[in-house]
Amino acid sequence: MVDHLRPVCAEIDLGNLIHNYDYLCGFPVPSRICAVVKADAYGHGSVEVARALYERGCRDFAVALVEEGVELRRAGVDGEILVLSQPPLDALAIAARHDITVTAYTKDAIKFISDTPEEERPNFQLKVDTGMYRVGAALDELSALSEVIGRGEIDGLWSHFAVADEVSNESTEFTKLQLSRFQSAINTLKGAGIIPRQLHIANSSGLLYYPESRLTKSRVGLALYGYAPRYEVDELGLRPVMSLISEVSFVKTVEAGERPSYGRLRPMAYRGKVVTVPIGYADGVPRSLFNGGGEVIIKGHRYPFAGVITMDQVLIDVGEEGNIEIGDRVTLIGGDGRENIGADEWARRCSTITWEILCGISKRVPRIYLER
Ligand SMILES: *Cc1c(COP(=O)(O)O)cnc(C)c1O
Repeated sequence: MVDHLRPVCAEIDLGNLIHNYDYLCGFPVPSRICAVVKADAYGHGSVEVARALYERGCRDFAVALVEEGVELRRAGVDGEILVLSQPPLDALAIAARHDITVTAYTKDAIKFISDTPEEERPNFQLKVDTGMYRVGAALDELSALSEVIGRGEIDGLWSHFAVADEVSNESTEFTKLQLSRFQSAINTLKGAGIIPRQLHIANSSGLLYYPESRLTKSRVGLALYGYAPRYEVDELGLRPVMSLISEVSFVKTVEAGERPSYGRLRPMAYRGKVVTVPIGYADGVPRSLFNGGGEVIIKGHRYPFAGVITMDQVLIDVGEEGNIEIGDRVTLIGGDGRENIGADEWARRCSTITWEILCGISKRVPRIYLER
């Protein structure tokens, strides 16, 4: 395959990544950061991101799949790699071979791990469910599980917040309830003679908004990539890491009243220029961005979509005169002059969350790494 002929790329600013990492490490102690690099580091490239963070001193990573952990190990990433849910039993030996720490929470899996000969046994951390109800052992199962685990040290005990990003009294109360349930899980294990070496529950929101939740470490994804979970209230010092860039590939004049693109949804208010940009929903530009009033930046000015987003191309209404030509740089996400469009802006316009926008930038978009 011939790479990079189409003028589209995601620029990944590793300097901004390191800035965010340093900034988050600066939170009051204990503030060890576990870098969450699942889903290809939220679309930023897990190997490049993990390597850059490792070089900066990060020794703690989390992924969703054993496969993702193996990819990092093969790329030479050292330090702890924790898989954030319980893998299929078949995957445990592979995890062990690559020194990948797994999460476990069923009796079967914990028994399987305990029965495995020591040299093939993966490190494991116990996950307790404190109210997310996704995965994890229930609080009232902990005593029974403790018997399977046996007395002594385990690598860790952890849990996960459901609404720490939300701003309401109800979500604050629920987050505090999760914290107190986590404390009671710690006590139950302690009563059974089990001492977890690590305790963690905070995600980006926990680290930023619930200082009491930063236990031995915080598992941070979104904030590392430069976005605050509560985008509507935050003025933090985070810097977005990814920009999405393309170029004008075609220019034409369209009469007033004509309606570009599929569905003919938006009439031109004047006789004006409509330019084409060779990026579409197959690259992760959501179709709903058109209805949401999305814009792009060209030469420091914002311009709206002239019609619905197609699979491989978008059309931009650049106005009546607009001296815009083939080859001009188009910023879909990122800054140009005084204007800036964040993945969080797309999320608001598309009624989704910043996490989904970042993960949605597809494999078809080449990642270009900017060093510091
Ligand atoms: C994805 C994930 C995180 C990171 O969440 P952010 O909100 O992106 O910081 C932390 N913990 C678990 C269990 C996760 O699945």
